[in-house]
Amino acid sequence: KDFRNKVKPNWCPGCGDFSVQAAIQRASANVGLEPEDLAVVSGIGCSGRISGYINAYGFHGIHGRALPIAQGVKMANRELTVIASGGDGDGFAIGMGHTVHAIRRNIDVTYIVMDNQIYGLTKGQTSPRSEVGFKTKSTPGGSIESALGVMELALTAGGTFVAQSFSSDLKGLTALIEQGIQHKGFSLINVYSPCVTFNKINTYDWFKENITELSSIEGYDPSNRMMAMQTLMEHNGLVTGLIYQNTEKKSYEDMVPGFKPEGLVNQSLEISEDHFSKLCSEFM
Ligand code: SF4
Repeated sequence: KDFRNKVKPNWCPGCGDFSVQAAIQRASANVGLEPEDLAVVSGIGCSGRISGYINAYGFHGIHGRALPIAQGVKMANRELTVIASGGDGDGFAIGMGHTVHAIRRNIDVTYIVMDNQIYGLTKGQTSPRSEVGFKTKSTPGGSIESALGVMELALTAGGTFVAQSFSSDLKGLTALIEQGIQHKGFSLINVYSPCVTFNKINTYDWFKENITELSSIEGYDPSNRMMAMQTLMEHNGLVTGLIYQNTEKKSYEDMVPGFKPEGLVNQSLEISEDHFSKLCSEFM
């Protein structure tokens, strides 16, 4: 079960995305997958290259559209484990409409966002995750917009698996991805993944000083949605670990009426003449 391939990542040395790649590879092996069991779909951005760096089915999609593709893959072939991935600009700006609806739909896809609070591929512009006052080429006077609280938003949208991690914590990140893959429904894992080239504020040291691990909060209960929201608000969203999980809600594909467990790829395409005529008559 080797999820490494021969492609050498062209990320900058020290980029947080290396750890995310390693964590996905380790988690996939740890849960017993084979490379042919896994599809990795990504969007556009530095982190979007990840689908080419893992020995599995890979699809490098278009900007902000990793989730529609990933959901299509899952609906076509339920036997595949599907991971969608990309950056905070990809998923929380242009792709945000898809993100919110995938969360509330609860389709069985694991979405891993490499959140560096900046657009790295285009050489450093303010993203929806940048804090107020953040100075870049696009906001030379400092950003006047608030950073989007994505974990809070995921809870509000009905998320059933909401988690956050940090690139420096490979062990914790791997464990969370394992849990996300095994969760029956949509899992959102936001990973603080520093951009060492363009973001000189949210560095590894900055995160180490500002992050609170949920495991250090006595009595924290990830099945308690109110507690999850309150804790996020108390820590300005800067917590890591499993924030919330609801194992009661069925996944989307288990609720679609008449949707067969074997998935579309294993179903016959044979259509009787009567059935075809009836279908056509509905459009005439
Ligand atoms: Fe990583 Fe930033 Fe370099 Fe992109 S520009 S590869 S996000 S360090």
